[in-house]
Amino acid sequence: MFGYRGKVLRIDLSSGKVSVEKLDEKLARDYVGGRGLATKMFADEVDAGVDALSPANKLFIATGPLSGTPTPTGGRYMVVTKSPLTDTIASSNSGGYWGAELKFAGYDMIIVEGKAEKPVYIQVEDDKVEIKDAAHLWGKLVSEATDLLEKDAPEKSRILTIGPAGEKLSRIAAVMNDRFRAAGRSGVGAVMGSKNLKAVVVRGTNKVPIADPVKLKAVAREATKKIRENGVTGEGLPAYGTAVLVNIINENGVFPTDNFQRSQFDGAESISGEELAEKYLVKKDPCYHCPIGCGRYCKTDTVEGGGPEYETIWAYGGDCGVSDLPAVIEANFWCNEYGLDTISAGTTIAAAMELYQKGFIKDRELDGLSLNFGDDKAIVEWTKKMGMREGLGDKMADGSYRLADSYGIPELSMSVKKQEMPAYDPRAIQGQGLSYATSNRGGCHVRGYLISPEILGLPEKLDRFATEGKDVWTKIFQDLSAFIDASGLCLFTSFAMNAEDYGAMVEAATGDKWSAEEVLKAGERIWNIERIFNMAAGVGADQDTLPPRLLKEPISEGPSVGEVTRLDEMLQGYYALRGWDESGVPTQEKIDELGI
Ligand code: SF4
Repeated sequence: MFGYRGKVLRIDLSSGKVSVEKLDEKLARDYVGGRGLATKMFADEVDAGVDALSPANKLFIATGPLSGTPTPTGGRYMVVTKSPLTDTIASSNSGGYWGAELKFAGYDMIIVEGKAEKPVYIQVEDDKVEIKDAAHLWGKLVSEATDLLEKDAPEKSRILTIGPAGEKLSRIAAVMNDRFRAAGRSGVGAVMGSKNLKAVVVRGTNKVPIADPVKLKAVAREATKKIRENGVTGEGLPAYGTAVLVNIINENGVFPTDNFQRSQFDGAESISGEELAEKYLVKKDPCYHCPIGCGRYCKTDTVEGGGPEYETIWAYGGDCGVSDLPAVIEANFWCNEYGLDTISAGTTIAAAMELYQKGFIKDRELDGLSLNFGDDKAIVEWTKKMGMREGLGDKMADGSYRLADSYGIPELSMSVKKQEMPAYDPRAIQGQGLSYATSNRGGCHVRGYLISPEILGLPEKLDRFATEGKDVWTKIFQDLSAFIDASGLCLFTSFAMNAEDYGAMVEAATGDKWSAEEVLKAGERIWNIERIFNMAAGVGADQDTLPPRLLKEPISEGPSVGEVTRLDEMLQGYYALRGWDESGVPTQEKIDELGI
C-alpha cells in the first residue's frame, strides 16, 4: 500500500498480547486514515454505550496517509476513543514529530485495549515492540517522564506520555507528545490513564512508500508556495503564532471575557501575540515538515517551554479577566506538565470564578486562595490544584460542566455537549455558533472554523451577523476539516489550500484518485459515522445547542452589541442539507449514499 504502512499494531494490556494486523485497504480508501479510519474501526469494535474509563474502552492512535511524507505539515496523528468528558466520540489531533515517527516505525496506527495490572509503557522500535514497567514514571510530570524515558529509549525516539492529570483520570486530561504538543481535547489522557498506560515511545527507521514521488514533490511544492503567499499562513502565524488573533478577535467584540459575561477585554493588548513576540518569545517551534511554524517557545522569569497558543491565552487571559501575560504563560506551562487541556482548564477556572462571584462557591472551599476574575496568581495555583486533584481542584479536574452542575447551575458552564467552547463569542459570528452547536465532539473550533470566512475573510468574506447560507458553509467546513484530520495534515493549511489541493497530495501519495468532490464526500462519510456513534451513545440532537446565555442574553457592549446566536434560524436547514431528518438523525438514504 502506498502512503500507508499497511500495518496496525494491536496491544492488549490485560493479557500482554501484542499482534500486528493488516490494514483494511477498502476501509482506508473510504475513511482515508487518522480521524476517519480510526473512528470507523473504533465504532465497529467498541459498543457505543461503553464506560469511557473502563477497560472495555479502546484507544486508537492513528496517522493518515500523508503523515511522515514530505508534504507541508505532514506529521499529525489523532487519538480516537470514547470521551470521558462528553460521552461522544473523541478524536484529538496533535502535531510535533511523534506521528511521523510511528509511520517510520512501520505502523499506521496503534490500538490499545484492556488495562494493565500496574503502570506500564509501550516501546516500539521498528518491528520490536515491548510492554515495559512504568513504576518509576508514574506520578511524574510530563518533562520528568520524558527525560527518564529518553535516557532508556533508543536514540532519536519520540515520546508520547500523560502527566499526573491523566493518571488521576481528569476528564480534561491531554495526551502529550514531544514535550509540548498535545492531543488536548475531550479527556483522551484520562482514557490512557485508566489503562495504566503512562507512555508510548516510538523509533522508526523506514521511509513511507509513495506511489508517485515526483508528483508528490511537485504538488507539495505548489502547496507550500500557496502557504507562503497567504497572509495568515505566510505572515501572521509565522510572526506571531496563533496569538496573532488576540487583537483581531477582540477588536471585533467577540473575545469572550469573564466566562462570556462580556465580549471585549480591556487588557487584550497586553496578552497579544505582538506582546508575546516582543517580550517572551525565545524561538519558533515548528512541527514536522511545517513551513508555517506557528509553534512558540517562550520564557519568563519563572518558567520556559512550548506555547502558549491563542486559545490558551484567551482561556487563561480574557476569559479569566487576567491581563498578565507571564501568569498566562506559567499557567500554560503547568498544563503542559500535568497534561491538562489548556482550553478546558482555563475556562473551567473562569466558570469557577463566576460561580464564586455569584456566591455558589464559598470562601471555605478555597484553601486560602483567590478565585476572583483578574487574579493572575489564581490561574496558576488553581491549575496546579486541578492537575493534582487537590481541594476544589478535584471537582475542577472534571471540567466546567460537572463543576457547575455540582452547584445546581450547569448553565454557567460555557460548553457544548459538556466540552468547553473556545475563544470566539458565537453570538456575533452566526456560522461559528452553528458549528459549535453541531460539533461531533462538543464545544470545538477545529471541527468547522467559520472564523476563517466570517472574521478573516478566507476564502471569502461573509457577513458574520447573517444566518443565511451559514448551513452550507458550516457543512463544507466540517466535511473538509474531517478529511484534513484524516489525511495527516494540519488544519492551518486550509487558510491557503482547498479540497483539490488536499486531493492532489493524497492521490500522489497513495496512487488512488481523489477529486475535490471525493475529498468532501469522504469528509461527509466521516462526519456521519461520528454522528451515528454519538447517537448510539445517547448524545443526540437535543444536545445540538449552546449555553442559554448565548441564545438569550445579548452581548452588552462593543462592536457586537445586541447580538445572540440565532440557532433556530440555521439548525433545520443544516439537518436538511446533511440529509438528516428533522430530529437530526441521518436518513437511511444518506447512509446508503455514503456506503456506511
Ligand atoms: S502550523 Fe503550527 S500546529 Fe500546524 S503543523 Fe505547523 S507548527 Fe504545527
